Amino acid sequence: MERFDPDRVAVRSAHFIGGQYVAGSTHTMDVRRPSDGRVYAGVPLADADLVDRAVQDAWHAWKTSDWARRAPRERACVLRRWADLIDADASALARLEAVGSTRPFKDAAGWDVPFTADGIRFFAEWADKIGGDVAPTRSDHLGMTVAEPYGVIAAIAPWNLPLVMASWKVAPALAAGNAVVLKPSEMTPFSVLRLAELAIEAGMPAGIFNIVQGDGQGAGAALCRHPRIAKVTFTGSTRSGAAIMAACAHSGTKPVTLELGGKSPQVVFADVPDLERTVRTVARAITLNAGQVCVAGSRLIVQRAVADRVVERLAAVFAELKAGPTWDPEATLAPIIARHELDRIDGIVQRTVAAGARLVAGGAPIDCGNDGAYYRPTILVGVDPAMDAVKSEIFGPVITVQAFDDEEEALALADHPDYGLAAGVHTADIGRALRLARGIEAGTVWINRYGRTADFVIPTGGYKRSGIGKDLGRQAYEANLRHKSVLVDFARED
Ligand code: NAD
Repeated sequence: MERFDPDRVAVRSAHFIGGQYVAGSTHTMDVRRPSDGRVYAGVPLADADLVDRAVQDAWHAWKTSDWARRAPRERACVLRRWADLIDADASALARLEAVGSTRPFKDAAGWDVPFTADGIRFFAEWADKIGGDVAPTRSDHLGMTVAEPYGVIAAIAPWNLPLVMASWKVAPALAAGNAVVLKPSEMTPFSVLRLAELAIEAGMPAGIFNIVQGDGQGAGAALCRHPRIAKVTFTGSTRSGAAIMAACAHSGTKPVTLELGGKSPQVVFADVPDLERTVRTVARAITLNAGQVCVAGSRLIVQRAVADRVVERLAAVFAELKAGPTWDPEATLAPIIARHELDRIDGIVQRTVAAGARLVAGGAPIDCGNDGAYYRPTILVGVDPAMDAVKSEIFGPVITVQAFDDEEEALALADHPDYGLAAGVHTADIGRALRLARGIEAGTVWINRYGRTADFVIPTGGYKRSGIGKDLGRQAYEANLRHKSVLVDFARED
């Protein structure tokens, strides 16, 4: 695996507006490398004036360029060229991602970057597939619906998979003929700038894809409130999603797509044919990106007959993981995004232990000899649904364990009162698997696997407080279109 020196990865610290880098703001915020806690750049924080400039530029570009009007397959060609350029730039993009986020370089190069490019290709394919319908009307009337872009869409992205999450918001909006103003997380602001640069190189008109940097309360809120923003597509926490929805309601009743938090169960029945394989799947679902994944399988719900064996094996698999910087090819456990997040995770674990739960593994930070934040993969047993670690999204490598006796009890434990993002069901009995898949209130249910491969065609999104609308799939593309009805009466007047 390729090694690189993180100190030699240069970043552009700027906004990207009207097809170029813009220094813009006087206020900046230190950005730290999660792997070693070092400040490596400052990010400019956009104020309302700069946000206004970006949105006005986007709106002007949308009105005056032919992006929305050109043949959809021509837009698709630009998107495909963009994806090819991203693939060609994979190594540089993966370094940027690895230095600035929790994504290990080998994963960023092997998954995040190609997945970003393939996602863009997927949405390019939709560009000329949905145009509208002709309605069944009287023969001397014509009624049709025409699918049209909204105009300028605000995309607000989280820090956990910066390139992939941003591309899931931006690509369908652009393919549908919208202009976009993206606000990445203030903790991972830089890698997406390279995407914008490559979009211009691919032939996207200047001003169609813009990036403003800043925090949620400042730039994010100003973007949501802006009168020229026609729609907001957001991925992040449930709390921020609620604030964004309220802001959109009070500033023009803008539609929203919200991909929010989760507390996803992994249900394991005693009949799984290969217990070791299932345990490895369960372990990966909570330790991938150190559990900082929206669909992290954070609640293990296991049939009593195999519970002790599963917990014992899970602890053994956790013990194999080696924490280390994203640029260390030997490391298999990613850092936590920031020290305050590590403290928050540890706080939930300690409160749950104080409430009577028992630690089987982990429960403490790991010292990697630098100022990075690392947390031991943690197993909590003896929990009940009222405990903090079972109720709250932890967004770290922490799994709680609850045992069940029968299918009915498994279903009751699997459903969370608030969240409904994803779930996993592991069993050899296909009927039972499908009953649980239909029974669990979640937007995605995996059977005998957990997590996403390149299934772009399958949408992802939450039930309940885990979200509104979908990323990926046809649904995500359609959510970037509005439908106009056009009616004409061509009856003779005699
Ligand atoms: P966050 O909500 O703190 O921030 C997400 C983004 O929203 C950031 O860019 C932030 O600056 C911005 N923001 C925050 N408050 C805002 C406001 N009032 N107005 C406008 N913008 C605002 O989330 P995070 O910590 O970056 O990401 C982790 C969260 O994201 C977790 O809860 C995770 O489950 C969720 N997530 C969900 C999915 C999904 O598909 N459902 C995917 C990834 C992450």
